[in-house]
Amino acid sequence: MLRIQEDLCKKCRICMKNCPIGAIVAGEENGEKYVRITDKCVECNICRRVCPFGVIENDDQAEGVVQCSSCSVQCKIPVGSTGACKRYTNEGGKLVRNRALVVEPKPQVEVDEKIRKPIITAVGAGTNYPCIRPAPHIVCENRDGVDVVTTVTEAPLSYSGVMVKLDTNTYIGEEGATVYCEGKPVGMVQTEEYGSKMIYVGGANRLTAKDGGFATARTIVALANGEEVELTVRTEDKKAIKIRCQQGKAPVINGVEEQTMRIGCGSATIGLLADIMKEAVDECIVIDHHVTGLFSEHLAGREVGMKWSGVIPNATKSTVGRYFGGHGDGIGGTVLQTPRDAIKSVDMSVAHAGMTILVTNTTGEIAALFEVREDGGVKEIPMTEKAAKVVKAINENCQGSMTSVMYCGGTGGSARGGVCKHPVKITEAVHDGIANLTIGGAPAFVYPGGGINFIVDTAKVVNKAFTWVPTPATVAPVEYTMTKADYEKMGGHMDQIKNVEDFPEYRK
Ligand code: SF4
Ligand code: SF4
Ligand code: SF4
Repeated sequence: MLRIQEDLCKKCRICMKNCPIGAIVAGEENGEKYVRITDKCVECNICRRVCPFGVIENDDQAEGVVQCSSCSVQCKIPVGSTGACKRYTNEGGKLVRNRALVVEPKPQVEVDEKIRKPIITAVGAGTNYPCIRPAPHIVCENRDGVDVVTTVTEAPLSYSGVMVKLDTNTYIGEEGATVYCEGKPVGMVQTEEYGSKMIYVGGANRLTAKDGGFATARTIVALANGEEVELTVRTEDKKAIKIRCQQGKAPVINGVEEQTMRIGCGSATIGLLADIMKEAVDECIVIDHHVTGLFSEHLAGREVGMKWSGVIPNATKSTVGRYFGGHGDGIGGTVLQTPRDAIKSVDMSVAHAGMTILVTNTTGEIAALFEVREDGGVKEIPMTEKAAKVVKAINENCQGSMTSVMYCGGTGGSARGGVCKHPVKITEAVHDGIANLTIGGAPAFVYPGGGINFIVDTAKVVNKAFTWVPTPATVAPVEYTMTKADYEKMGGHMDQIKNVEDFPEYRK
């Protein structure tokens, strides 16, 4: 367990607020305030990491402690205590998952197969304005003995935008940085997803902004329609990062076309390939902007019989074998410019001369092999066949980089008017699975909660389906499909229903 050096402790209680299992107590004794770590402590080290004064140190271990190896934190859990994640309990010297396996998922709202596909799409349907008028087309078809209705409209949506997913590790600016197109602000850098950088273009506030509203509408529509667009992100230090992107194509960042999406973070790479690393080298550093991995120290390294090699990577330690580095324009989105930069130092009391260190990124596109010298320095040596095999295995397990464009919109407002006389009825029907929303024929994911806020993969939408009007708003093809009986119940425009066979474009 850990111990607080009481004479140096400032009694700020930051450690106590952060301890995940309440193993720190505070109080007053003989007129003196105290903050103490109890024997429930599992050595997760959170308190040590957050203490601003560095006054927490190691202490003796309680009896019956079992070390958990289910993640890299490696809690040392005393009998009767739970680990930092509260998932594992030491029951009489044995770690058990303290929640029984749940077999049955929650019941979900299912959409019936008959209403899954729209009878026609809304692409080319036009818009009836104002929305008190019925939708341009309300169409009926008999499907397996059930009359089904689709209402279609090309709805102008001022609450709309596109989420652009770029499969890359390359630095594109900090989260929240403004994104420009045609020199106008059109969006911002979002939080990252695993292996990808995200940009949001649009949103109601950008679309209605005095400066850039039209450029925003044009950019959303171009991206949603699969056209190539050049975006610029301005970083805090006034650098401009140029991103050329197009749905289904690899992004081009600062003139360099991305080839490969990473296999995983540095830690995951080691976790997946530890067995072949062991055969190839004495140490491996896998550089990544999220987590840089150190093979010999990593749990997967230990699993294959490794012991810490003495190599210290150029990053800040998180947990065993996992390190955080700064974000930057270097290798793998870090600040490291060359593989050599990844090696901070070598502790020669543990390491030995002649040891090999492989440094690679998480796509295997950049790699170098080093040998440790007598004085603890390293020199680059030619890649051996076995080391090259590790790099090849990383590369072969990566996917190609791509740009994906998801259109996001909200049809929970006036766009419901053309569907039925009581707008809330279509909103409820969508959430209850009674009516199915599609966008240009593609399935839309509807956010939970109020309204009809949705997201749709534009790759699945009919080609060139999006347009815009200079209010400014983007125009999306919106279809609702339901049974005719349900449509009648919600107060649909029954007198406007046409038979699908009456459409000249219809081909059975
Ligand atoms: S090491 Fe973890 S469990 Fe122990 S006192 Fe600190 S925060 Fe709590
Ligand atoms: S955070 Fe550090 S200084 Fe503050 S109470 Fe805890 S041990 Fe003491
Ligand atoms: S899985 Fe939970 S109990 Fe086990 S080491 Fe990780 S945080 Fe601790």
